[in-house]
Amino acid sequence: MGDHRQKIVGQDGALRRRGLVIGLAAALSATALVLALTWYWSSDLFLDQTQVRAAAKLDLYNSNLDGALGKYQSVPKLLALHDEVAAFFQAPLDDEALRRANELTKTVSLLTGAEDTYFMDAEGLTFAASNWDSDRPFVGHNFSYRPYFREAMQGRLGRFFALGTTSGRRGYYFASPVFRDREILGAVVVKVSLTDIEAAWTADEEKVIVTDPHGVIFVSSYPDWRFRSLAPLDEAALQAIAESRRYQSVDLRPLDVVAQDRAGPGPHLIRIAGETGVSDSAEYLMVSRAMPEAGWTVSVLASTQLARSQSITATLMAALACLITFLVAALVWQRRSRFVERIAYQRRASEELEQRVEERTADLTTANVRLEREIGERQAAEADLRQAQDDLVQAGKLAALGQMSAALSHEFNQPLAAIRSYADNARLLIERDRHGEAGENLQRIRDLTARMAEISKHLMTFARKPRRELRPLVLSEVLDDTLSFLRIRLERAGAVVSLEQPDRGLQVRAGRVRLQHVILNLVSNALDAMENQEHPRIEITVVEKGERVIVSLRDHGPGIDREQVARIFDPFFTTKDVGKGLGLGLSISYNIVRDFGGSIRAENHPGGGAVFVVDLPLLPLPETVLEPA
Ligand code: ADP
Repeated sequence: MGDHRQKIVGQDGALRRRGLVIGLAAALSATALVLALTWYWSSDLFLDQTQVRAAAKLDLYNSNLDGALGKYQSVPKLLALHDEVAAFFQAPLDDEALRRANELTKTVSLLTGAEDTYFMDAEGLTFAASNWDSDRPFVGHNFSYRPYFREAMQGRLGRFFALGTTSGRRGYYFASPVFRDREILGAVVVKVSLTDIEAAWTADEEKVIVTDPHGVIFVSSYPDWRFRSLAPLDEAALQAIAESRRYQSVDLRPLDVVAQDRAGPGPHLIRIAGETGVSDSAEYLMVSRAMPEAGWTVSVLASTQLARSQSITATLMAALACLITFLVAALVWQRRSRFVERIAYQRRASEELEQRVEERTADLTTANVRLEREIGERQAAEADLRQAQDDLVQAGKLAALGQMSAALSHEFNQPLAAIRSYADNARLLIERDRHGEAGENLQRIRDLTARMAEISKHLMTFARKPRRELRPLVLSEVLDDTLSFLRIRLERAGAVVSLEQPDRGLQVRAGRVRLQHVILNLVSNALDAMENQEHPRIEITVVEKGERVIVSLRDHGPGIDREQVARIFDPFFTTKDVGKGLGLGLSISYNIVRDFGGSIRAENHPGGGAVFVVDLPLLPLPETVLEPA
């Protein structure tokens, strides 16, 4: 049973462990999925927000640049149209004319805020410039290699941004052709500084860059990135850059791009190494817009740090939620499994109990059957025993008969011898005609035969088969009858009998004559014991004691010898003289009382005399139908 239970518990445990592993795996997979999705969605969301902000900033920078450049765009045009300016281009100029031209350019620069204003002849030679009186004046320099000059010489407004070859400062150039009739005499050039615009951007959180068509960063709110290219430059690009001398001799190193999801104008993620290398890299969301007129592309690089940390936070929150869900689920699962376990245990316990009850019931039934069989056997054995006992009693009596033959032979031989001698005497006396004396002898013979008849009667009683039918008897009636039988003998002895008994007529189941015989025998023995007393007294008391009735008969004789108490109920025990007692009275009484289901015992009264106590079962209810007296 115990093994079986352990096995069940073991199986349950294995099942539960497997369930736990599967549950854990499922929970971990679900958690991983949730975290991945959260990361993906939140990144998308927060990067979108970053992008929206970056795009707004880009709009702002665009219009900023547009405005700044637009302001200067018309200045060279206006100058080129002016007759006085055109006059400067009609060669050759004297010193005075040159001075005026220089002054004019300086005035224009001062008034418009342009960095430089200068005039170039058809060969590209600068003949007048606003910085004519500075350390490094443009005057005398030929900038014919500049694309803006070539464009102006083709009759268009030239635009170009470049690092100044003379000044070493970055600027945006506008060049307008100066016409005489259809001939182009030269170009009026205005250079706008980009430094101020750039300076205004540095304070911004986002990084702003302006790149040329080759991807070289020309303007940057982050100074380190100036003149760096977004991608390594190929030979053709380097060639073109060299020709335009846009960046003079600046070393155009590519930016250290660690990773980018894709290159190109659309918004994309780009990771750029910092000053100390890859470990210092930062990720940006890059949004760009081309400004075709200006010939450049403006890009805003917004750091994704905030978006990423927001995504991390969201993912962590999701992880926390998962963990809580997981814990709650685990708790619920644990509770449930405990509940299920308890139910199963209770079910098993009740099954076990039922089984035990069944087993016990079966045991009891078997025991019952066995008991009934045993009872039957006992009853049979008891019947056998009773039979054996009866047989034994009978056999005992017969043995006693053998034993008594000696006593009997003595008992009978003596009177027989006496009868013989009385008979001889009587014959002799009759022969001698002494009839009176002969008659006396005959009388003695008669007495002796009467006594022998009595002995014989006793023996008959003793040898009878017991268990004759018993009837309910009223004890007081039996006692009264017996005492009235004895009246003459009592009177002769001068004896007084006192009878004390309850008012209620107690009943016993007995044989009337036999019970009378017992009482008679006891009274007779008492009278014998008090033979020599003048006033013999006998006290009979009847007491009800539970379901028994006790009849005590006390005399005031010498009592019974201590050594003889145990033997007085033996057959043929007598202390009386030969011829007076056979020693059968008490023995017979003992058997009679026992046949009634009672007992008899003898003791000495403390106040002297013997007490015979007869104990008989009491009939519970007085019966109305009684045996007639
Ligand atoms: P029996 O009377 O023929 O002797 P019993 O059996 O009646 O035979 O009595 C046996 C013996 O018990 C008597 O011989 C006597 O010794 C003793 N006995 C009986 N009754 C009394 C008594 N009331 N007082 C003293 N001894 C008694």
